[in-house]
Parts: sequence; C-alpha cells; structure tokens
Amino acid sequence: MFESLTQRLSGTIERLRGRGRLSEENIRESLREVRIALLEADVALPVVQALIERIKVRAVGQEVLKSLTPGQALIKVVRDEMTAVMGSQANDLNLNVPAPAVILMAGLQGAGKTTTVGKLAKHLKDKRKKKVMVVSADVYRPAAIAQLETLAKQVDVAFFPSQADQKPEAIVRAAIDDARKSFVDVLIVDTAGRLAVDEAMMAEIKALHGAVNPAETLFVVDSMTGQDAATTAKAFGEALPLTGVVLTKTDGDARGGAALSVRYVTGKPIKFIGVSEKPDGLDVFHPDRVASRILDMGDVLSLVEQVEQQVDRDKATKLAEKVAKGKKFDLNDMRDQLEQMQNMGGLSGLMDKLPGMGQIPESVKQQVTGKEVPRLVAIINSMTKKERRNPALLNGSRRKRIASGAGVTPADVNKLMKQYQQMEKMMGKLGRGGMKGMMRGMRG
Ligand code: GDP
Repeated sequence: MFESLTQRLSGTIERLRGRGRLSEENIRESLREVRIALLEADVALPVVQALIERIKVRAVGQEVLKSLTPGQALIKVVRDEMTAVMGSQANDLNLNVPAPAVILMAGLQGAGKTTTVGKLAKHLKDKRKKKVMVVSADVYRPAAIAQLETLAKQVDVAFFPSQADQKPEAIVRAAIDDARKSFVDVLIVDTAGRLAVDEAMMAEIKALHGAVNPAETLFVVDSMTGQDAATTAKAFGEALPLTGVVLTKTDGDARGGAALSVRYVTGKPIKFIGVSEKPDGLDVFHPDRVASRILDMGDVLSLVEQVEQQVDRDKATKLAEKVAKGKKFDLNDMRDQLEQMQNMGGLSGLMDKLPGMGQIPESVKQQVTGKEVPRLVAIINSMTKKERRNPALLNGSRRKRIASGAGVTPADVNKLMKQYQQMEKMMGKLGRGGMKGMMRGMRG
C-alpha cells in the first residue's frame, strides 16, 4: 500500500531525521521534494498546494526551528498535516436510527461495490454484532444479484432476493419491510453501477435515495484511479447527500493519490478502505495511521489489532501452559503455530505496517514473508498422529514416505525437522528456566 510514495519520500525523511539544525534553505528544499513526491503520487493539485502551504507556515515557525530536533519536528508537521488533509479522525458509520438502518451503496462499474457490500456486512456482523441483511437493486445485471447472493452466503448474512423485472424502489421497499419484520439492524443496498456518472444513473439513485431515506450513503471508488477517484466522488456528492466514501483496492495502489485527495476534494470522509479481495479485507480508515505508514513511521496500532484478531487465543494459551509445565513441544504444536502465521497472511500482511519497511527491497521481503508456511504445514499433515506426537520416530524411511506424501524432497523434510528441533529446544528452555533459561540458552 502506497509503497512508491513512501519510497519517494524516504530519502527526504532520512536526511531530515538526524538533523540538529535546519536552515530555511533546507526546509525549502525538503518541501520541494515532498511536493514532487505528492504530485507523482497523483494527489490532486489543490490538495498538494494546500498541504505544502500549511506545512510551510508551521515549518518556518518556532515549533520547528527552535526545536531541539528540528528534523524530527518537521517530519511531525508533515505527518500532522497529511493526517488533517485526510480528515483527522476515523469516521464511524451512523447507525443510530430506528431499525433497520439502511446503507445505500453506489459506485461505478468495477469499483468493487458488490464486494464491499459483502465485506461491510461481515464487518457489521462480526465487529459491531449487528444483524445484517443485503439486497441488490441492480436490475440490469442478473449476474450482479447472483454475485451478491453468493457473497451473502459466504459471510453468513441474510439475503433478500430480487428479480431483473422489478423496479429498484419496489425491491428496496419490500426488503425494508422484510428486514423490519425479521428484526434486522442494518440493511445494505447494492445498486447498479454505470461506466460513468451519467444522468440516468443519478436519476435512478436519487429516486432510490428519496424512497428509502438511508442512514448512510456511501460512494465506492477504486483507489487505483488516483485523483480521478476524488473527482468522480465529488460529481456524485454534488447530486446526492453522500455521507462517506469507501476506497477500494488500496492493496494494489502504490501511489496513494486517491487516499490523500478524496477528503479535501469532496469534503466527505473516507470511512473504509479495501485492503484485499477477501471478505475480511476491509479496514476502518484511520487518517493518522495511514499518514504514519506513508512516512514509513509504521502503523503499529493496526498491527496490534490485526494480531489480536487473528491469533487464536485458546490455542496460544494452551501452548503457553504446556510450555510452562515443561511438557514436550511436539509437531502438533508446531503446526498450530504455523497455521496461525498463515492466518495472518504470513508475515507479509504484517510487515508493511512496521516502521522502516519502505527501505527494505521487495526481494528481501519475499524471502521472509512466509511463502514457505503452507509447504511446512503440508509436510506435517503427511505424518501420522503418532509421528507428530513423537517426532523421534522419524527415521529415514518414514521421512521419505512423508516427503512423497507432501510432494516435497526428503531434504525439505529434514529442513523442517531442524526447524522443529530448534523450536523444541527453545520451548524446553522456556519451560525449565522461564525467560532466564532462554537468555542463558541464547548466550551459551
Ligand atoms: P462492482 O462492479 O463495483 O460491484 O465491482 P465488484 O465488487 O464486482 O469488484 C470488481 C473486482 O474488484 C473484483 O474482482 C473484486 O474482487 C475486486 N476488488 C474489490 N475490492 C477489492 C480490494 O479492496 N482489493 C482488491 N485487491 N480487489 C478488490
């Protein structure tokens, strides 16, 4: 996410970081670099101008020049202003209306609208404990209705069926009725996408909006379209009272122009960002965290949330107890640990939230991002229960059998066993001597 912008800025940041003194010339030079980086990232020109102007005012003031660490102070100013231009605070959905709260979703074709409906349904169900129903008013593409039905099944929320020969307003009215009867908290309405924001589309969605009086009207835009995303959302927002924007496909967007432009250009907050194709690939948009990420200061808060969400606490606690009692760490435990890593998308999903990751070449990242993990799990899965519990059984012929079962070479099995032995040794020390035991082990 936004790698090229981060990389473009990293030289400037690095030069500033250690600086004990800054002259106006230094500052001007740094701001010139920031400005070029933003323009290259396809941030809309008025946004770049406003941002640089605001940074400049503060940069030549007391706050920076009189600071003991002016370089750091300037970086902080850049971060603050980037955060402000994206809207300062995370904006939650307003669902405090009589149930069902209707969320109307609009967007151009291919923006990721239907996918986002599924993700948002999952988000509201899992994180906010809402009873959710989804409905499609896209009567032009029966395939879109079927796509939503599939998604609803996948994320396990109610789906209100609709047909291509119905009127969008009639569909949504019937859905609201049904939602009310079945005590649904939130009804998410998918609407027809068009190739461009044209009059027909606007007329239809305006009529729908008038008919259902939604609690939220969200416009879904593809972040890969850069500043055009902001312009499209603006055109749309002029016709309809938008309450927010969802920015999709940020996982594929190296530049970040849309994220930085939407709020300023449209006056509407970005409420969510799409971060993968999967149903859980939707994050609440936190301007401060995104700004930190762009400036390669890391996004440790999101990292902690992600880990908390994806680590299976029960398994982790069980393992900790087992280790504390000095019981043997076996291959089942190793598999549990590997699977947890896999749940977190290997290390790759975590790595780019760590500070300084922008500096590390992609090739090196690939090596440590756990592409190996599924293979290791497959090897352990090819073992018998007995072998997993008692790894000492694994002689040469058993290893050969396991290798062919997992479709790897015996050398791969040996490598896994070496890793296992290292982990086992470490766990043993942890169990026997607690942390002290492990520290001793590391030294000796
Ligand atoms: P719609 O025409 O606006 O309803 O678009 P769809 O929901 O059908 O999505 C279009 C394509 O974008 C699909 O292939 C989705 O999987 C993909 N997509 C949607 N959101 C994201 C995202 O946040 N990240 C990635 N990588 N792909 C996404």
